[in-house]
Amino acid sequence: MNSARARLLLPFVLMVVVVVIAACGVAPVNRSRVAQWESRYNDAFLGRVTPEQLLQEVNLRIDLIPPGTAGRKIFRPMKPRYITIHSTQNYSGDAYNHALALKRGALRATKRRGGNRIGYLTWHFTTQANVAIQHLPCREQGEHADFDGPGNNYSIGIEMCEHRGNDIGLTIDKTARLAAYLMYTYSIPLSHVVPHYHWPRISPYIKDPHKNCPHFLLDGGRPRGTWQWFLNRVNLHYNRLIPGPARNLG
Ligand SMILES: [Zn+2]
Repeated sequence: MNSARARLLLPFVLMVVVVVIAACGVAPVNRSRVAQWESRYNDAFLGRVTPEQLLQEVNLRIDLIPPGTAGRKIFRPMKPRYITIHSTQNYSGDAYNHALALKRGALRATKRRGGNRIGYLTWHFTTQANVAIQHLPCREQGEHADFDGPGNNYSIGIEMCEHRGNDIGLTIDKTARLAAYLMYTYSIPLSHVVPHYHWPRISPYIKDPHKNCPHFLLDGGRPRGTWQWFLNRVNLHYNRLIPGPARNLG
């Protein structure tokens, strides 16, 4: 290659190097999807709140699975150290439907060694655009993440609804407010707010240990830019809190 040609090529090569470095450094994020969710928010009106006011914004309904029945047949205490975020992938059931199914013991799973431990699926909260429903006390273990792993043994599980007609942007925001409230109440750091994906499901029955859940907050099935955007949303609400007493949710 003669030197004139090399001089011509050099800027092009540099540009490619810059683009590759930029692509590696910035986590991908689905901008148009995030922009659509953000268009539903009125952040200019967000003020500081007491923990009780934040809980009012969550519009929490407490509708626990009765103790001693279905997924609460066995009392399994827990010290919550993480918050695990899921989405239902149920395109017809809303939060009330899920509350009813949990109470009736309708969400069965095969109980087996290295798999589900109680024969039922259970989790702590279900959120949708206008409400959050609590199913389990926060100091009881659920069965929503990783069988006998730390996700079940130490985390509060939140399922986001995705039934038709439910506004996903508002559901995500409600979930972020609930997560911020739980962080405050149970002294859980933001780094311990994780997607279901975070907990590998080690089982001979499962091919891919990392579940693509909650799928609409992951990019290519992994927690990257969109997940970081969600964590920023949780942090935004957490930083609105005025320190004060918080109601314990079990
Ligand atoms: Zn999940």
